[in-house]
Amino acid sequence: MMNSKYDVIVVGAGAAGLWAAATVARRGQRVLLIEKNKKLGVKILMSGGTRCNITHNASWREVADAFGKSQGRFLKYALATLTPEEVVDTFHRLGVATKVEETGKVFPQSDRAIDVRDALVTQARQTGVNILPGTSVTGIASNHDHFVVSCAEQSFFCRTLVLTCGGQSYPGCGTTGDGYGWLTELGHSVVAPRPALTPLKCRDEWVHRLSGVTIPDVDLSIQLQNGKPQMVRADRTCFRGSFLFTHRGCSGPSTLNISRLVTDPANNLPKKLICDWLPRVSEEMLRNNLTSAAARSSGRQLLNELCQVLPKRLAHELCELAGIPGDQSLAELGKKRLNRIIQQSKRCPLDISGTLGFAKAEVTAGGIELSEVNPQTMESRLVPRLFLAGEILDVDGPIGGYNFQAAFSTGFVAGNAIPGA
Ligand SMILES: Cc1cc2nc3c(=O)[nH]c(=O)nc-3n(C[C@H](O)[C@H](O)[C@H](O)COP(=O)(O)OP(=O)(O)OC[C@H]3O[C@@H](n4cnc5c(N)ncnc54)[C@H](O)[C@@H]3O)c2cc1C
Repeated sequence: MMNSKYDVIVVGAGAAGLWAAATVARRGQRVLLIEKNKKLGVKILMSGGTRCNITHNASWREVADAFGKSQGRFLKYALATLTPEEVVDTFHRLGVATKVEETGKVFPQSDRAIDVRDALVTQARQTGVNILPGTSVTGIASNHDHFVVSCAEQSFFCRTLVLTCGGQSYPGCGTTGDGYGWLTELGHSVVAPRPALTPLKCRDEWVHRLSGVTIPDVDLSIQLQNGKPQMVRADRTCFRGSFLFTHRGCSGPSTLNISRLVTDPANNLPKKLICDWLPRVSEEMLRNNLTSAAARSSGRQLLNELCQVLPKRLAHELCELAGIPGDQSLAELGKKRLNRIIQQSKRCPLDISGTLGFAKAEVTAGGIELSEVNPQTMESRLVPRLFLAGEILDVDGPIGGYNFQAAFSTGFVAGNAIPGA
């Protein structure tokens, strides 16, 4: 049997929990970190294609902006307290060299997520955190001046409780939304959790045929099909980037980022994904390019011209969708067909039939209502000495290291704000 009394218990040894536990243990408190899995930091290990995109090479303000208005406002203090630069410095101090890729994503130089995970675990151990892996917390209760944390074999007691047990995406990793039930019982509200950063399913046969084709730069938007089609407004601008056709629909950063709009109950109508396959070229420029190519060489064919700027298989499908043979000479294209191919290149609709759900969602949108948590301490406004950090909160950022940054920053703020024993 382990000692059952601690100053602080942290539930969930992911990015937020490992950071929070080390921060508070460094301040001299006796800390127990309980993790359901035998392995610690499972999501860190599988993140970024096992390379772990630690953070984004941006100012804390830019990171806050990437979360949209209300989440950004909540995260501002935490991100300014532990900035992306400070996260990188911390990893350097822990012996993990980093590199910045062209996209602004920060990775360990080694491309090994395990180096990131090991550094955080070592830091927690060195600061004196007691770690209990392979133990699932089954319930929590608040009892006047202490909390009771129940596990199958034993109960634990603490004056301060930190819940960092994540959301409910990739449930195979241990994140099965356990914290939501406990917190609801304690009076908290949960913004309905839904999958975000998840691949989309499309009905269009031609999309399935292109499985495996990648396009480096695509700009996406969502159109609701409510009689008169209507574009969905978003307070984020990260729907442009790499795009991947899959055998069921599409994925890649641009798709993953926009998936939160697809799962948003406010958009509960049939939807189309509107793809601009050539975001660097305006409709006007494309029109001019195609007409001037025809003028330069009368024998020039449409498919060959499109293949200059798009993968051949996509160019071929776009011609089919526009009802134009690929060997159509540009000189004889005519205005109507020119308009049709411009429409398919710049506003190509894909019929969305759903998403791959929580099973394949990199994050959970929704979670604990932010107005019930103090953004300067991460303490619950309803239950004193209860702290929340990481993805359990109603925060979900885009692809690019933003989600780990939010988990580290909120974990750090919680760890620092916990009052002395
Ligand atoms: C495939 C994949 C790739 C990703 N890649 C990136 C990336 O490269 N960059 C990035 O910024 N973000 C990435 N993310 C998102 C990122 O992993 C999460 O946002 C981040 O891990 C959230 O940290 P957290 O500590 O809040 O929660 P988690 O890391 O989910 O940790 C929560 C922990 O709590 C434990 N737990 C849950 N319930 C209990 C319980 N009852 N008892 C005990 N323990 C419990 C879980 O087992 C888990 O270990 C990725 C996510 C996935 C799924």
